[in-house]
Parts: sequence; structure tokens; C-alpha cells
Amino acid sequence: MRFPEVTLRLPDWVERMLVDPERTYPSAEDRMRLAIELSRASIRHGAGGPFGAAIFDRETYKLLAPGVNLAIASGYPVAHAEMVAIMLAQRLVGDLGGERQPPYELVASTEPCAMCLGATASYSGLRYLTCGARSEDAEEIGFDEGTKPAGWVRSLEGRGIGVARGVCRDEATSVLRRYAEEGGEIY
Ligand SMILES: [Zn+2]
Repeated sequence: MRFPEVTLRLPDWVERMLVDPERTYPSAEDRMRLAIELSRASIRHGAGGPFGAAIFDRETYKLLAPGVNLAIASGYPVAHAEMVAIMLAQRLVGDLGGERQPPYELVASTEPCAMCLGATASYSGLRYLTCGARSEDAEEIGFDEGTKPAGWVRSLEGRGIGVARGVCRDEATSVLRRYAEEGGEIY
């Protein structure tokens, strides 16, 4: 094959942050704080954009898969935190929307961009999407969220995906601002 293989790997510090596989995250705020913590740690480790995501089992409230933005670290601009979490989760349990699966939730420190929204809506099998910072909070510091349909929330709900927005929004937005203030790369 003259074309290369594509591999994505979480940085080791992500696993070091998540030492207890039995830990539960019962409230939306608990789950969001993990996504925000991942976004904050991404800045600290210079891994990439200030975005974190995580997929949770909404029956046990345990973490299935974390995601951090690997766009800069991996050289794949499509390696957004949400995409990384979705791909890891799919490797772990297969189709997230399969018949015998519990409902899975994607928690994203910032509302997904147009690409991640498409993946969430059509190719993930997720049943819930929970967002922290709003798209306009990311756009305010220069990130491009792409063109999303105006009625994207209703459209997801129409596909059976429950949406919650603005969970811990101030905390999530403060990470974005800090990244911009410290001169982080905006791409
Ligand atoms: Zn994205």
C-alpha cells in the first residue's frame, strides 16, 4: 500500500488522570467537569486545542472513553476531542447505538463544530449530547466552528438524541479565554 496508515493515540497523561475505572459521574456537572479538566490539562501539556470530551454510560454513569484535541499533536486537523472520544468508544464497545447497548452520552467542553456535529448526529449511535461553552464562546476567541444548521438542536432531538447546553458554561469558557490569553494556537 503506497498510502500510510492512520493512527491516533491518546497522550499518556490522559490515562494518568483517569486511574479509577469504577468512578461514577452521577450529575451532568460531574461529567462536564471531567471534560473541562481534560481541556485544561490539554493546555498544560501543550497537547493541542483547549477542548475536552468524554463518553459516559448513562446507566452506570461511568466513563467509557475520554477525548482530547489531538489536531496539533497528531497532525490530523480532524482529530477533535469529540471525534477522538467517539472513535475510542466505538473501538471499545462497537456500535454505540446497537440494540443491547446502554444509552451513551457525549459530553463536550465546547459545543461541537460542524464536523463533530455531523458525526454525532449520523455516525455515532449516541443518545445524549451535553455541552459546556457555547459555539459563540469559541468563535469569540477565533476558533472556526464551521457552518451548522440553525436548528441543529431540534434536528438532533428529532433523531432521538437529547441535548443539554451551557452546563458549567462559565468554567468551560474560562479555559478557552485562558488559552487565548496565553497565546495558544488558534486554527
Ligand atoms: Zn469538532
